[in-house]
Amino acid sequence: MSTETPLDLKKTVNLPKTNFSQKANLAQNEPARLEKWGKLDLYRLIQRTRQGRPKFILHDGPPYANADIHLGTAMNKVLKDFIVKSRSMMGYDAPYVPGYDCHGLPIEIHVERALEKKGKKKNDLSVETFRRICREHAENALKSQTRDFKRLGILGEWDNPYLTMSNHYEAETVRMFARFIERGWVYKGARPVYWCIKDQTALAEAEVEYHQHTSPSVYVKFPLQSDPALIDSALAGRNVFVVIWTTTPWTLPANLGIAVHPDYEYSAFEHGDEVYIVASDLVEAVAAKCNVGETPPKVLARFPGAKLDRLEARHAWLDRRSLLMVGEHVTLGGEADAETELDVSESEKKADSKAGTGCVHTAPGHGHDDFVIGKRYGLEIYCPVDNGGRFTPEVEHFAGQRVFDANDAIVEFMRERGVLLFSEKYEHRYPHCWRCKNPVIFRATPQWFIAMDHAHRDLVEKDEDGRDRSNFTDNLPETPAASLRASALAEIERVKWIPGWGVDRMRNMLKGRPDWCVSRQRVWGVNIPVFYCASCPEAVADPAVIDHVADIFERESGDAWYTHDAKDLLPPDYTCKGCGAQEWTKETDILDVWFDSGTSSVAVLENREELRWPADVYIEGGDQFRGWFNSSLMIGIADHDRAPYNTVITHGWTLDAQGRAMHKSAGNAVEPDKVIKQSGAEIIRLWCASSNYFDDMRASDEILQRVTDGYRKLRNTARFALGNLDGFDPARDSVPVEEMEDIDRWALAELNRVTREVLAAYEAYEFHNVYRALYNFATVTLSARYFDIIKDRLYTFAPRNKARRSAQTALLRIVDALARMLAPILVFTADEIWENLPNRQEPAIHLALLPMATEGGDDALQAEWERLFAIRDDVLRALEEARVAKKIGSSLEAKVRLEASGSALELLQRHRNDLRYLFIVSQVELGNATGAQGTVIVIDSTDGEKCERCWNYSTHVGESERYPTVCERCVAALNEIEQE
Ligand SMILES: [Zn+2]
Ligand SMILES: [Zn+2]
Ligand SMILES: [Zn+2]
Repeated sequence: MSTETPLDLKKTVNLPKTNFSQKANLAQNEPARLEKWGKLDLYRLIQRTRQGRPKFILHDGPPYANADIHLGTAMNKVLKDFIVKSRSMMGYDAPYVPGYDCHGLPIEIHVERALEKKGKKKNDLSVETFRRICREHAENALKSQTRDFKRLGILGEWDNPYLTMSNHYEAETVRMFARFIERGWVYKGARPVYWCIKDQTALAEAEVEYHQHTSPSVYVKFPLQSDPALIDSALAGRNVFVVIWTTTPWTLPANLGIAVHPDYEYSAFEHGDEVYIVASDLVEAVAAKCNVGETPPKVLARFPGAKLDRLEARHAWLDRRSLLMVGEHVTLGGEADAETELDVSESEKKADSKAGTGCVHTAPGHGHDDFVIGKRYGLEIYCPVDNGGRFTPEVEHFAGQRVFDANDAIVEFMRERGVLLFSEKYEHRYPHCWRCKNPVIFRATPQWFIAMDHAHRDLVEKDEDGRDRSNFTDNLPETPAASLRASALAEIERVKWIPGWGVDRMRNMLKGRPDWCVSRQRVWGVNIPVFYCASCPEAVADPAVIDHVADIFERESGDAWYTHDAKDLLPPDYTCKGCGAQEWTKETDILDVWFDSGTSSVAVLENREELRWPADVYIEGGDQFRGWFNSSLMIGIADHDRAPYNTVITHGWTLDAQGRAMHKSAGNAVEPDKVIKQSGAEIIRLWCASSNYFDDMRASDEILQRVTDGYRKLRNTARFALGNLDGFDPARDSVPVEEMEDIDRWALAELNRVTREVLAAYEAYEFHNVYRALYNFATVTLSARYFDIIKDRLYTFAPRNKARRSAQTALLRIVDALARMLAPILVFTADEIWENLPNRQEPAIHLALLPMATEGGDDALQAEWERLFAIRDDVLRALEEARVAKKIGSSLEAKVRLEASGSALELLQRHRNDLRYLFIVSQVELGNATGAQGTVIVIDSTDGEKCERCWNYSTHVGESERYPTVCERCVAALNEIEQE
């Protein structure tokens, strides 16, 4: 024994010590860490480290380079970062090349408004100048978005993103148009497309949104001109009418026919001296609604719809034929046009089932189904509405009126004419322009299409100026390749969709979608690379010519279309095949921006050495089924005969706490910028992980506060482990597992279990399960159990005592694994933990790998401890009751007596020495229970004196002369310390 003076007791307690502070100060510390990563060039360092490993390619869907980022954009990018970082830490070479969608209407509108504010008009500027301003606007927007994405801790090639307005990209975009032509899938024709009156352009399926809209609902009678006896002899000589129903009275001037279902039964019922034809199932409803016929209606004849085929009615007020046709698209619920809404749910369709007559007003220039059936019956694709949504001069009575304004006038007009049976206001979901939010119309105009089924040579129409510009179709292959729709439907079955319903949604979308209208009457985009002969109707849509144009775009950007004459864009001395002339004009339409972004897999994945085609994964919101998932698939098939992705993941929307959409104006928007300034980017990231992104994700200040609380718990868990590793040298001090204390081995078995769970969740992209597993591990397994129990050992045992080293060995493994598992989510904090670990090697945690887990584990050990923890829960409850009853103060003042029998008693006896630490009490006595059921717990105040050093009570305090105020355990510890 040492003869020196006794140790200062306070200094012999091993209190936790770490630079990992309790307060995160994320708002300040995150930018500092970003700087550290910048200096390391962390993204490229990771790339170099993973070089030669199997590749994992997440292909970024490009956000639109217009406004600042909102919570939804942040969530989308953070989820992508979770995927890339977790795959990288699984050992994959997982590059991330972010992209930006730079062309299109929203930027044009923004620039137009900015010009208006300066008192200028778009037309005052040359197209080149206008495009330059659009380009500058996109550049500025994407710079600010890049800054925000980097601030969120997302690593990627931010200094070299892909831009749909880059020269190479624009060149690839027109090359892809050539690939569609080669397949025989491109045609120009007049087909009804969504048309925005305000923006005066065609819109894609993905560019319309459905909102509630009130329309006039009208029942109108069309007089039958054919002999009614042809239907049924009972109708001979009668005054027969076919009753139609519509919610777009303004399309009635363009009516050319009425469609009925060939197999449905129709009835003719009497109203005074008139006879009305409607579907049999709707007779009573129509009669009641229009207040016609007797009660019940007197039906004169019943017949299948097929009986009406090719009979003729007369237009309700115009001197024009309205042809009766049969079509399978006719339903007994509402308008056929409702069918063109691809996302309309079955229940919504059913909600319409009260309306309608089973006789569908058909205007081939104003509806998709109308167009298809009109074509089949040889009707004209008649569209007497101009770009501004006004009736053309040929429309009797309503010429020059705007169609939506004309609705009421037409209803009144029909009422006066006596052809209107009934009208009322009607609420329904109606397509609106995604940009200006105005209701859109269906309108046939000459447009470029990609055929879903086959190239519609027969559909090619004369241009607006009357010229037939279809000659290029002569160059089409005689037998077109398998149809785009069939190929797409086959491809999606090979793709993995997460969640699994994605394939159904995609299938339904593909089955129903009309031909893809790819032309836009705009200037900020990639031009459709087609030339027209000035002397004859020849149109040049030739893949070889387009590839020539693409090479020019590659050098000079798509601006070349405007800065060069047609001659300079065509191959030298290019001569018209039709007439030998050499004078040309250029197509003025640009390509749909979805064609642009759909090109990305080819333009990006095939262009960069670090990437490859196809991508492993695409992840975007549910709106991309009609959008990017679809256009990427189309282009993948045109260029490679396959989908450009192996897996497609869909995430939900960001909503407020009540499940409403977020709007700045509604005051319920959570702004990422504000959250970052207040709490740190880490809180947004953790929020993304804590919500199940397969559903809609809700956010509010209160929800984020809960996330912050969760963050604090994770942080404190790491801090406890780090604090107790002060002075621990893993190489020197680690204890082999087989020599570790029982409970430390239990903790490692638990770590193994949670690691398995987390790895499986990362593998399945289920980040909410990663979070849940780690959160429960930190708060329940560690904080509420393990840490509580090992505190005494860590604090009061001699620093180098093997039992203490055993706990430290476990702690290091736990905090090391915890940091790695958190790293893809808490990118900043995990790296901070990493810096404070004694054994770290890599300069940043993102270079490290996820921990390994062993299969199976220590099942018997875990089962044994689960039983002990069940007893512990009972004891802690009894201690709490004793505390409330003022029998004891702190739990260390308690003596616990346990009486048990059989296997329970054996279990307790086996862990006799663990029990006081397990319950955090000073004494535990075991007894044999006689006749009692289960374990009897008796709480008493402890015997002996309080030890000054460890605060446990012991009857041995005072036995040591050298340390008279401490217990026998502390005396032993102090002796050890003195000898160290
Ligand atoms: Zn619009
Ligand atoms: Zn010519
Ligand atoms: Zn003590």
